[in-house]
Amino acid sequence: MDGSPVDVFGRPMGALRISLTDRCNLRCRYCMPEEEYAWLPRQDLLTFEEIEQLTEVFVSLGADKVRLTGGEPLLRRDVPELVRRLSGLPGVKDLAMTTNGVLLARHAESLREAGLHRLTISLDTLRPDRFTSMTRRGTHGEVLAGINAAVATGLTDLKIDTVVLRGFNSDELAELIEFGKSVSAEVRFIEYMDVGGATGWTPEKVFSRAEILETLSQEYGSCEELRKNDTAPADRFRLPDGTVFGIISSTTQPFCATCDRSRLTADGMWLRCLYAMTGTDLRTPLRSGASHDELRDLITGVWQQRRDRGAVERVSERANGQVFVSLESLKRDPHLEMHTRGG
Ligand code: SAM
Repeated sequence: MDGSPVDVFGRPMGALRISLTDRCNLRCRYCMPEEEYAWLPRQDLLTFEEIEQLTEVFVSLGADKVRLTGGEPLLRRDVPELVRRLSGLPGVKDLAMTTNGVLLARHAESLREAGLHRLTISLDTLRPDRFTSMTRRGTHGEVLAGINAAVATGLTDLKIDTVVLRGFNSDELAELIEFGKSVSAEVRFIEYMDVGGATGWTPEKVFSRAEILETLSQEYGSCEELRKNDTAPADRFRLPDGTVFGIISSTTQPFCATCDRSRLTADGMWLRCLYAMTGTDLRTPLRSGASHDELRDLITGVWQQRRDRGAVERVSERANGQVFVSLESLKRDPHLEMHTRGG
């Protein structure tokens, strides 16, 4: 797109993830392990109109792939209305959502009707008892019902995202692949990242890309890596029976070199990296009446200074024993949390 800025390393702006809320109806131990959280003030949350306005600006700068996330995006009231607004914006080529699926059964049809293109559902285990112990909520059945509803409504291009933790679900990879086949969804295995509130992270719990490939090769035969022709975070592989799956190896093989993603929190903080310590407040200029062009100039200038390579830098920081952020910092600034910035 004309006038699309590139950052210091020549990376264009390609994808925008919009967090609709920092609230979640699960308490996954690898993401929200605490009993209590500081939440974003309600009056700070961007309205649908404000989200639409900012999305228009980002799209005009080349961010034509938009993903709605959270927290849990389906906790935000009337999400299909927002989907309708965004899917109608000229220039939005791809409108997707990442959800934990708990509330999906009641929304799948209206999301499809509103024009959602793609849906990713997070599912870490097929075993209800494991789900309850990991998420501290007993809603495994609702998630499965949500996936079935998405299939029934004809939402195509479904993905299932699974964070793999050694000793929790690393023995379920083949079962999850089989489940994915049964619902025509591509499964993507995510390495456990020490980001945001993942205060229980240890290197031993990371089940690496190499281990995932080895496990699946033993089960199915060799995994052929598919050529990559996009900047999506997953590397994709084909099993001998033709099944395709992905691996997002942010921890052992970060992909910062091609990262074209940035994130907008529910209160309008714009972050250029999942690991960024600071962001740019877009809510204040927006609410002070900044025009489309003024916001465009602001965002362009900041993107041109972008030099984030958070996941790559974490590799060496981690080797030096540095934690990402302390629990005290997380308590002081909810923007550092994964559930605020949007996974
Ligand atoms: N609530 C929605 C969901 O569960 O899909 C969207 C937000 S959630 C933060 C997005 C994704 O981030 C989920 O697939 C979740 O499993 C993943 N995630 C959260 N913390 C993670 C971590 N420490 N390492 C890897 N993935 C993580």
